[in-house]
Amino acid sequence: MIVIQRVASRPLIRQQLKNAVFVGMGVAGAIGRLSQLRRSSVDTSGMLRVLMYHRVNRQRIDAYTISPHRLRRHLALLAASYEVVSPGAVLRSIEGRSPLPDRAVLLTFDDAYLDHYENAYPILRDLGLQAVLFVSTDHIGERGTDHGRGRIDTSSEGRTLDWAHLREMRDVFTVGSHGMSHQMLTRIPRATAAFEIVESKRLLEKQLGETVSFFSYPYGKPSAYDQELDGLVRAAGYRASFVTVGGANSLDHLWSGSALRRHGTESLSDFALARVLDGSCDMIQGAHIRYRQWAVSRREAAAASG
Ligand SMILES: [Zn+2]
Repeated sequence: MIVIQRVASRPLIRQQLKNAVFVGMGVAGAIGRLSQLRRSSVDTSGMLRVLMYHRVNRQRIDAYTISPHRLRRHLALLAASYEVVSPGAVLRSIEGRSPLPDRAVLLTFDDAYLDHYENAYPILRDLGLQAVLFVSTDHIGERGTDHGRGRIDTSSEGRTLDWAHLREMRDVFTVGSHGMSHQMLTRIPRATAAFEIVESKRLLEKQLGETVSFFSYPYGKPSAYDQELDGLVRAAGYRASFVTVGGANSLDHLWSGSALRRHGTESLSDFALARVLDGSCDMIQGAHIRYRQWAVSRREAAAASG
């Protein structure tokens, strides 16, 4: 998801509220009956949780930016209690229907900002971790991205990665497609969406000389993808698509390769992230997902009848 710089924007307020709710759930889970319910109902074996990050720098204040310091803390928390699995391991699991280690977590970064090279890359390389980097091909090598929304961000952190960066970071980042223009694929003609899905893969593979197996839907919320689009993604040869809906992926869900869930974790405190990872927040996230899907189907029904 690409976001224009805004201080104390609505997404930030929403994220902070989410942070507070997650902390509240975690506290309730720790001290109350909820904790017992959670322990008996949440089994972390055979599950993959996917974390989603966007910008990594200390200049911006918004819901889609994490400071390098906090990213290191998140990764330290993961190292202590979870198993960060490589994109290759996830791909092998999907292709071979083989299990993943217990408490498996996959790291993903969206939009390919220059600060992924300047800040995220050295941290992950130091720690020997790998991640997926989702790239929108129209925006490679931009200086001051506005992504067609009319406002130019000329600060250095608004710049995006170029092909040389993507090649240099291969030891850490496996590149996936995030479409071409970063438009919501449900809001453009189907033929255009199909072209973005196919052509972004072709371009990335041609420039990088490797197979691109992962796709993430721009914006990634329930109204940003549907079954037909997912069929196009599979027909193009991708092995898995990712969305921005939070929650764990069971092995069956992972092996389906369809609309894999990701947690947006940029602004989460260590405590809130721990609660997300241990499943304390799945109940509220599940209710939220069901509500969003219901809202989308209601809108579609209204549009069909109107
Ligand atoms: Zn994006």
